[in-house]
Amino acid sequence: MPSTTTGELYKTILLFGPPGSGKGTWGKILGMIPGFYHISTGEMFRTIDTESELGLRVMEIMQKGELVPDDIAFDLLKQHVQKTILLGAFRPQKDVLVLDGFPRTSRQAAMLASVAAVKVILQLDCADREILVARLRRRAVLELRADDANEAIIRHRFAVYESEIREALDQFPDDLIERVDVSAPPMHILASTSAIVYKRLSAEAQRG
Ligand code: ADP
Repeated sequence: MPSTTTGELYKTILLFGPPGSGKGTWGKILGMIPGFYHISTGEMFRTIDTESELGLRVMEIMQKGELVPDDIAFDLLKQHVQKTILLGAFRPQKDVLVLDGFPRTSRQAAMLASVAAVKVILQLDCADREILVARLRRRAVLELRADDANEAIIRHRFAVYESEIREALDQFPDDLIERVDVSAPPMHILASTSAIVYKRLSAEAQRG
């Protein structure tokens, strides 16, 4: 990701969570607040140009429920951020970046550290995986997502998440991580995520 013109790191909120936990939904909601800008790597890959060789490769990986290789994921994220800056959509000196779906591995976490100052990590989760599976089945119909339509691929994505996320989280100090129970009613999640983000960013503003 290109750094800001002053070489500062992007002020960033990370959204972590297994498939179906609502990273995209809560990322979009936070991104609607003035001064926040949302980027989802999953969405970025889903809209990749499949005419290109790279695009085809990424699409094949996603359809299997595997992770896009770290270097490709980070390069594509950097290019995407560059584009949003050029368009004036993301203003690195003013906006907080809400990053959903990145990092997913410890290596990605290390790559991100060169460009982002992470202010808080929202770890969306719930103990009952079946609630998430039911949401994914519904999303498969509503959003026509190929990777949500197949039960075996859904289960594989959970397994990939479980195997990578601990190491990715270990790259950050524990006190940055805030857990949000996504089996709660949506208004409750809205209230708790807003309160967490407000608390974290205002504490930061006070420190100057
Ligand atoms: P979900 O969390 O439901 O799997 P996402 O939209 O976040 O949904 O991701 C969809 C797919 O995009 C992933 O299964 C993976 O193939 C790819 N992907 C998204 N983010 C990354 C990333 N940071 N690194 C590698 N692959 C990624």
